[in-house]
Amino acid sequence: MCTTCGCHTPLPAMPAPLPDTSWESRLVHLEADLLASNDAQAARNRQLLQRAGVRALNLMSSPGAGKTTLLVETIRRLQGTMPVAVIEGDQQTRLDAERIEATGVPVTQINTGKGCHLDARMVHQGLMQLPLLPEGVLLIENVGNLVCPAAFDLGEHHKVVVFSVTEGEDKPLKYPDMFRAADVLVLNKCDLLPHVRFDVSRALDYARQIRPDVQIFQLSATEGSGMDAWVDWLRARVRA
Ligand code: MG
Ligand code: ZN
Repeated sequence: MCTTCGCHTPLPAMPAPLPDTSWESRLVHLEADLLASNDAQAARNRQLLQRAGVRALNLMSSPGAGKTTLLVETIRRLQGTMPVAVIEGDQQTRLDAERIEATGVPVTQINTGKGCHLDARMVHQGLMQLPLLPEGVLLIENVGNLVCPAAFDLGEHHKVVVFSVTEGEDKPLKYPDMFRAADVLVLNKCDLLPHVRFDVSRALDYARQIRPDVQIFQLSATEGSGMDAWVDWLRARVRA
């Protein structure tokens, strides 16, 4: 008998459930295995950082949101007050690493090739090549991508999403996994607000809908406004 309407029409036979060997099911298991082994390596990274007394930040954004400029300007302000080291993630080139090198802090470049995110194993290799000094900060620039970097724990203490006012206000709604994973949001390029149609309060409302306790900094890395609050917060986190 049909349980929906109570009639006695025989129900059409249900398609057989997908066997465990189906392509989809194998893919799901592969993904779960991949994330589990990543999480194990991330835990080792976290331990290593903890023992060294280093705070790590994982900076994520879409390409062009200004991560590298934010890093360079942050380093300029922190330099001489605490040890800073950088891991640069990009699919290709050493261009961003060269910009960081010019500031004088130790940096290692990881090229992911076809890969679209950093994983904990790559970050571990980076850690092996950097001096990790007590009461220091490690800044990790992830590959520009708002999708899968959200799923990969690197062993960092904070996930920072950099969101610029030249993007759409609705990014938090379109990429909720990223905006849920990040405990810190940097709204960058605020100096351009007079020239673009970007509703700051709407964008931040969307971000808080996805993650109510997100810590927000509104700044312009190129022009310098708002940088003090961000750098002060970072200093306080390193001392904590
Ligand atoms: Mg960059
Ligand atoms: Zn990816």
